[in-house]
Amino acid sequence: MPDMVVVRKEGLYCVPGDFYIDPWQPVTRAVITHGHGDHARRGHGHYLCAAPGAGILRTRLGDITVQGLAYGEHVVHQGVRISLHPAGHVLGSAQVRMEYGGEVWVASGDYKVEPDATCAPFEPVRCDCFITESTFGLPIYRWQPQAQVFDEINAWWRRNAAEGRCSVLLCYAFGKAQRILSGLAAGIGPIVCHGALEPLNRIYREAGVALPATVMVGDIDKAALRQALVLAPPSAAGSPWIRRFGEFSDAFASGWMQLRGARRRRGVDRGFVLSDHADWPGLLQAIGASGAQRVIVTHGSIPVMVRWLCQNGLDAKAFDTEFGDDEAAEAGDA
Ligand SMILES: [Zn+2]
Ligand SMILES: [Zn+2]
Repeated sequence: MPDMVVVRKEGLYCVPGDFYIDPWQPVTRAVITHGHGDHARRGHGHYLCAAPGAGILRTRLGDITVQGLAYGEHVVHQGVRISLHPAGHVLGSAQVRMEYGGEVWVASGDYKVEPDATCAPFEPVRCDCFITESTFGLPIYRWQPQAQVFDEINAWWRRNAAEGRCSVLLCYAFGKAQRILSGLAAGIGPIVCHGALEPLNRIYREAGVALPATVMVGDIDKAALRQALVLAPPSAAGSPWIRRFGEFSDAFASGWMQLRGARRRRGVDRGFVLSDHADWPGLLQAIGASGAQRVIVTHGSIPVMVRWLCQNGLDAKAFDTEFGDDEAAEAGDA
């Protein structure tokens, strides 16, 4: 049987279904795994995504034709049965399951296997061929349980607040920021969010995700800022917006903070290792749980992952894609 999904210049292409998955050039029909910029782009004729992600796509891409599909429900398009299954990465993130002629392929998009409070947990989907990301596909990447990372963040905030110093935490605006919010000990002090985060916080709250109360910087008086935790995108570093917090302690949250020297290169006081992607054991766990004999690696640490899979008896290869490395770009370590 010919391959169900191939790479074309526009993106990953489902041949019998005549649609694309996260295409990087404008196409007629796009199935979108999630709303990060390198996966959800402008200019497609029709978008299909998981229902909880439709609001994100509209907020980020404006006036688009988007159909939201509930997790686990299916549509049939040109004989291909398409369904979307939670990827555990960000709100609305999905793996795309395609069934045709008795064969099943799954395209993962970005995924994370540790469940968190802000999105549906990763669901293993059995398939013949699994198309996987490999952002942190090196054996050195092993995450601590997120509860431990949240404890570290709260301890840092509590100490700063006790010493009358504002805490500024830089992180990715979509996904990471809301996940951190969900883990903050709100009793320590006020939580201030940069304007780039609030529209996304609103979508999460509307989707039923419990987040602590947040305020904009203009909403609280200067004295209260000394006990505050401020969440801001990395682009805010060094800006006039951030200088108003006076003498503050700053930190950065990303999977790349596990790299030696990453915190210093970033020029922040603290680095918290927190990723919305699977670590090395998580990638292997997901690939194993798919039961797939064929694996295709799309982005990240491709050669290492392909070699490891081949050495372990799987038929593995790579697709050359234009998916970026959201966390690397954000951490300045790309
Ligand atoms: Zn992503
Ligand atoms: Zn990605």
